[in-house]
Amino acid sequence: MLDKDYRYYISKIDNIKTYRRKRNHTPWLVLLGCIGILGTGASLALYDRDLSKNLDYNIQTQPETSPNPSANTEESASLFRKNMENVIVAPPVQRVANNEIWQEVIVNKGDSLSVIFANSGLDPRESYEIISLGKIASPLAYLMPGNLLKIAYTESEGVRKLSKLRTNINTTDYLEIYQKDNKLQARRITQEPDIHHKLVVGTIKHSLVKDGLHAGLKNTQIMNLAHIFGEDIDFTSDLQPKDRFRVLLEESYLQDKVIEKETIIAAEFINQGKIFRAIRYTDLYGNSNYYTPEGESLRRDFSRAPVHYTRISSYFSSKRKHPVLQKDRAHNGVDYAAPSGTPIQAASNGKVIFSGKKGGYGNVVILKHNEKYRTLYAHLSRFKKGLKQDTKVKKGEIIGYVGQTGLATGPHLHYEIRVNGTPRNPLTVELPKAENIPATLMKDFRNTAHELITQLEMADTDLAVLD
Ligand SMILES: [Zn+2]
Repeated sequence: MLDKDYRYYISKIDNIKTYRRKRNHTPWLVLLGCIGILGTGASLALYDRDLSKNLDYNIQTQPETSPNPSANTEESASLFRKNMENVIVAPPVQRVANNEIWQEVIVNKGDSLSVIFANSGLDPRESYEIISLGKIASPLAYLMPGNLLKIAYTESEGVRKLSKLRTNINTTDYLEIYQKDNKLQARRITQEPDIHHKLVVGTIKHSLVKDGLHAGLKNTQIMNLAHIFGEDIDFTSDLQPKDRFRVLLEESYLQDKVIEKETIIAAEFINQGKIFRAIRYTDLYGNSNYYTPEGESLRRDFSRAPVHYTRISSYFSSKRKHPVLQKDRAHNGVDYAAPSGTPIQAASNGKVIFSGKKGGYGNVVILKHNEKYRTLYAHLSRFKKGLKQDTKVKKGEIIGYVGQTGLATGPHLHYEIRVNGTPRNPLTVELPKAENIPATLMKDFRNTAHELITQLEMADTDLAVLD
């Protein structure tokens, strides 16, 4: 088993983060709730005993910056202002092509198009003509400091005449002003990005972290991979030597600039001989999620283990000898051993219907998720501050902390799932899944899935070499 080799800690801080490995620490994994599957903004620090071979080992990760933000946002403007504070502005860049002289102008605070035109030796009346084109030209009517304008003009007998003006609207689209029949016109131009795919394959020998890095994945990608399959594979205890993974990454470029960093668009993880596959699919509203090749969401509405535990100390059974009472009694849940104080997360969205002391359960929280499902969390050392009856909770939200109140021989979470009032085995009970691919998109999804799986399978020959 690799559970002792494998551990990592993820923090959701948008800074470069260094984490120093501690020795003899109980292995556990913390995946803070709201790390998006797309993994933007999250930074990651890793623990990996095997990797460090008893040496202190630091890994630094850079925060993911959003690629090339829109030139017209307040954010980029303020960033620009910050950068410009101590900078002397360079003279405009000029180049000549097809009789046109091109100039790049960065908008300063207080600049309007007419001011820029006047400074560039152009006729400010042309700027009014542009503004009068209406809504399509509005990015030029409301210039933000930091915007970049590319201006082309022709010059004859000392008179300059605008021929083209371009400014970015977002990462793929730009606005172009051009001359047609001696009149200025505006159009929006969408550029098709260049898409590059990269396949990464690896075999587990030590840990997901070590072998992931070795195969060429970045820390954030390893985190995303663990997150994508996290509902099906318990990476703290299920991982086995010879497990294999294949990851297909996509990066898009526009004129040699990266506009989307390497994103996982398909992945396969073979865990103990069982194949798990994930396909990334973006719906009509631009939401991207991961699905099985059959179009089922990989996210479950319910978590089977709402705590990052070290081991399962007791399984669900209809009859067992109670460790404290020494009598045969049904065990209506699963006991997840974890250090005292480990946060416990709500298994799904719901509301608190009980929080307080209850006999052998000690401090207990019961959540109602809908008419059918309830979950129970027992032996808590303490509750989350402010948690009381009728408090609404979201999946992954902390509700309390592991302890050993009530009848318990050590710190652990006793977790029950009740379906229509009957306790069911949390490890095997069928649980509702998040939304699957709707029938209307199924055809498109299947085409995407087929294409991506074909690409994943192309890794077979490489894999043999790498092994
Ligand atoms: Zn129990």
